[in-house]
Amino acid sequence: MAAPLKVIVAGAGLGGLTLANCLAREGFKVCVLEQASALGEVGAGVQISANGARVLHTLGLEDALAKVAFTPERGEVRHWQTGKVLATRPLGNASLERFGFPYYHLHRADFHAVLADAASAMPNVTIHLGQKIVDLSQTKCGVAVATEAGADFSGEVLIGSDGIHSAVRAALFGPDKPRFTGCVAWRATIPTDRLPEGHVRPAASNWIGKGGHFVHYYLRGGALVNCVGVMEQEEWAAESWSSQGAQEDFLTDFQDWHADLKLLIHNADVCFRWGLFDRDPMLAWSQGRATLLGDACHAMLPFMAQGAVMAVEDAYTVTQCLAAQPDDVPAALKRYETLRRDRTAQVQQMSRDNIEFFHNADIDNLEERLNSHRDAHLWLYGHDVTSQDFLG
Ligand SMILES: Cc1cc2nc3c(=O)[nH]c(=O)nc-3n(C[C@H](O)[C@H](O)[C@H](O)COP(=O)(O)OP(=O)(O)OC[C@H]3O[C@@H](n4cnc5c(N)ncnc54)[C@H](O)[C@@H]3O)c2cc1C
Repeated sequence: MAAPLKVIVAGAGLGGLTLANCLAREGFKVCVLEQASALGEVGAGVQISANGARVLHTLGLEDALAKVAFTPERGEVRHWQTGKVLATRPLGNASLERFGFPYYHLHRADFHAVLADAASAMPNVTIHLGQKIVDLSQTKCGVAVATEAGADFSGEVLIGSDGIHSAVRAALFGPDKPRFTGCVAWRATIPTDRLPEGHVRPAASNWIGKGGHFVHYYLRGGALVNCVGVMEQEEWAAESWSSQGAQEDFLTDFQDWHADLKLLIHNADVCFRWGLFDRDPMLAWSQGRATLLGDACHAMLPFMAQGAVMAVEDAYTVTQCLAAQPDDVPAALKRYETLRRDRTAQVQQMSRDNIEFFHNADIDNLEERLNSHRDAHLWLYGHDVTSQDFLG
């Protein structure tokens, strides 16, 4: 029997670590290279819908996720000033009944730890920290990468899951810049016990308004509330999750909004503020034995809550394509790309389109927009990534 392929995974974010788990369970040898000196994620929330939960359960992570997640009863769209509920979509049991899998709200650090623990426990996974990839080369039979720390790593496949500023992407397709979307985001997490009882409903709540929107939902079984407020702005310098902003400025941005939201902001200890960037869909993701995954190839606005979920779907798909054609890596990677590019491009576009809808609660065709938003969710969540033709 031929030796298993060695796959180099660039980046240990949510996408890279899901990929490491998928590959390891299929018997591949996995070498993860992460630029940071410690594994971790920012203190914010992430929503994982049924289409992503399907993959995570396939990886055996159901129990570990259940321990740290919050499962919302529904999604709701509310009016920025009156608080009126404009639309709801059932989640909770309805997600299980309709799609067979739950809808999770997770603290990013918890989700990341679940993935990292599972990957680290696999004998065929090694994770190297402090290894920023700066160069790569490939031959007919293999790939090699060099890191800033002066180390060299080689394998038979390279998958760039190194995020929106991907070095692998730049090496394969040339340098370019992500696009500032005209939206700036605030984020904060608030301990629930600081808030009046019942202040936050067990829902994924999206308040749509004038030139902005505000999302909040529970994390950690309900112990924390995750808040993200988005406002339109003309310019922004850099894309980073970690720039702090002043609480007074957060309050000023949302001063005309419903009092419930201002109470949330008042109770935040630390607020972060950063510009949102995305990219246009790429015409190709792969070259020879190297390809891309997650934000590296389809960075999108978070307005469908699908960036990480798409990375999870990518991870499952690329693994199965490699398992189906281990003797022809370039063909396997092309098949992966074919299965993934249209769907992710569509979600990128839907996320952009939601700017107009989320930032204008008083548009004439609101009902039509709400209906098409609901249909988009059904299309997204119902996708079964495990039953595709991986060989082509
Ligand atoms: C406000 C906000 C809310 C969001 N909410 C949701 C949501 O609810 N649901 C959802 O599905 N998505 C959501 N997203 C999107 C989601 O966060 C991203 O799509 C997802 O984190 C991308 O994962 P990734 O692994 O592709 O990239 P990243 O998370 O960026 O990980 C890349 C990793 O690669 C490492 N790296 C970078 N360069 C190198 C290099 N040269 N060498 C080695 N390592 C390198 C980085 O250190 C990092 O660890 C949201 C995004 C935002 C901004």
